[in-house]
Amino acid sequence: MTMTSQTNNVETMALPKRAEVDSIKTWDLSKLFNDFDGWRRALDALPTEAILNETLTLKFKGQLEKGGPTLVFAALTERNTLTRTLENLYVYAGLRNAEDVGDAQSSEAVAKISQINATLMAQWSFLNPELLSIQALPQWIEAEPLREYHYELSELLRAQKHVLSEREELILTQLSTPLAQFSTIHSKWNNVDLKFPNAKDSSGKEHLVSNGRYGQLLESTDRILRRSAFESLFKEIVKSRHLIASNFFARLMTGSTLAKIRGFNGFLESQLFNDDIPVEIYSGLISTVRKNLKSLHKSMSLRKKILNLDQVYSYDRYVSLATGHDHFSISFSDACDLILKSLTPLGSEYVEIARRGLTEQRWVDWAENEGKRSGAFSWGTYDSNPVMLLTWTGGLRDLFTLAHELGHSMHSWFANQSQPYHLAGYTIFVAEVASTLNEVLLSDYILTHMPNTVLARDCLSHWLQGFEGTVLRQTQFATFEWEASRQVDAGDALTADAFDDLYGRLVREWYGPDSGFDPLNASEWMRIPHFYSTFYVYKYATSYCTSLALFEELKNPSSTNAARERVLGLLKAGGSKSPLNILHDAGVDLRTPAPVEKAFLTYERFLDTAEKTY
Ligand SMILES: [Zn+2]
Repeated sequence: MTMTSQTNNVETMALPKRAEVDSIKTWDLSKLFNDFDGWRRALDALPTEAILNETLTLKFKGQLEKGGPTLVFAALTERNTLTRTLENLYVYAGLRNAEDVGDAQSSEAVAKISQINATLMAQWSFLNPELLSIQALPQWIEAEPLREYHYELSELLRAQKHVLSEREELILTQLSTPLAQFSTIHSKWNNVDLKFPNAKDSSGKEHLVSNGRYGQLLESTDRILRRSAFESLFKEIVKSRHLIASNFFARLMTGSTLAKIRGFNGFLESQLFNDDIPVEIYSGLISTVRKNLKSLHKSMSLRKKILNLDQVYSYDRYVSLATGHDHFSISFSDACDLILKSLTPLGSEYVEIARRGLTEQRWVDWAENEGKRSGAFSWGTYDSNPVMLLTWTGGLRDLFTLAHELGHSMHSWFANQSQPYHLAGYTIFVAEVASTLNEVLLSDYILTHMPNTVLARDCLSHWLQGFEGTVLRQTQFATFEWEASRQVDAGDALTADAFDDLYGRLVREWYGPDSGFDPLNASEWMRIPHFYSTFYVYKYATSYCTSLALFEELKNPSSTNAARERVLGLLKAGGSKSPLNILHDAGVDLRTPAPVEKAFLTYERFLDTAEKTY
């Protein structure tokens, strides 16, 4: 056993309590509230459900058409004022809870504000249907005062043709919770029911296998341990193959049926609708990646050579190519310096704001303390500083996580400074551009300015795995989802064998002739939770390709200045336009194959460097 309960306790005891942590290592949330006393005063100032209902009936309900654009403007503004206040209350409670998830005060605060949020916003549910019933709304939004809400209201109008009758919408709302259970069923199976036998390393020592630890085990330089972990996990999951196939098929069939009910041409089209993404972007990504799979095959044969393997199996893909040296380690403040230097191509304004955020305004909570939420995120509100949570242990992963989350935070900072409240929030489709751009700038800086260091060797392998995990693997997932859903749209019933056949075929196609195929690989679809947020993962691939296209232009001296302005334009745009238009204005047209094609040129260049380095 690697980890007995006793060593677990010892590790927990070694961590400081949240109250003992030096404030320099924590975030400053005072722009939101100084403490829970201030938070409670703001909470007490909210209207009750009854008072809000009375106010809305008196001022707006049933009167919008007669009141004209001025009354509609007043209603939208009043709703946004409430949303903004509720967000500040919710995010503060959530951030305080992330500091220590076991803390009773913040846990209660999160529950309380969630419940108040739901009841107050329910009072506003009359607004959108009433707006859509106004015949003149399309004309009103072209003039003052509603021009300010043009994008928001035109999005509402765009969705109108898929909105059903009031009664039908009510039925679908009532069914929405039961129809969302497939994801819960998968999650309970994957996170609660599944238990794996221990894996054994080459010396016979046993290692605990869990979904959480699996990734780490696959990074081990001990191949016997990697294979053992793989077998322990997959032999266990395939025992439930008929159950999970039925659950996943039911998920696809539900999505496909709802899409038809709402008048969409298939499940995929219905899921891309919110972001206003045409199906051709999705299919185009898949066909361009397929055309470039030879680059991934080349990477696998390089991996085979460097790691001296007979064939590269799925459990050989995550071990670093930079084996056989000391581990890289860096302090938080050195990491900040390094990241800031790497961001120079984004200009002095960007770097200065980031520097203040990292070093003076305490945007980052990097302390390690008992009960702190694991993982990393960037969050905040229109009124707060953008803040980031991570736990600093000083490895390469932390360095890149900080650069990544800083990208999200800077995106929020620029969007909040440049847009009114209702247009500042951006969609996932553009969100990952700013974060992955920072990661590639950091990699490029390290490889260019610190060649032949331990850090550079680690970083190159990390970059290649990042590209393969984000662009190639996510597109393989996206292809699987699409091909399966098209069969379901066409009325086919899919079984475990059908899912395995499809997935296995894609794995072979993606990883090529130097990769070994274990029959268990065909069942990997069973354990991917993202398949229950259908047609979501392709956004990781398109975002990453976009950020690489921007990176190449920033790197080329003849286009640096123009590219910098376009990147800043993207950050400042927030959610003021459709995601495709925001990227188009930044000079990246995903309606063409060029950005994805170009991303593979960058990948090839890094592969060439790897060939010379290892
Ligand atoms: Zn991210």
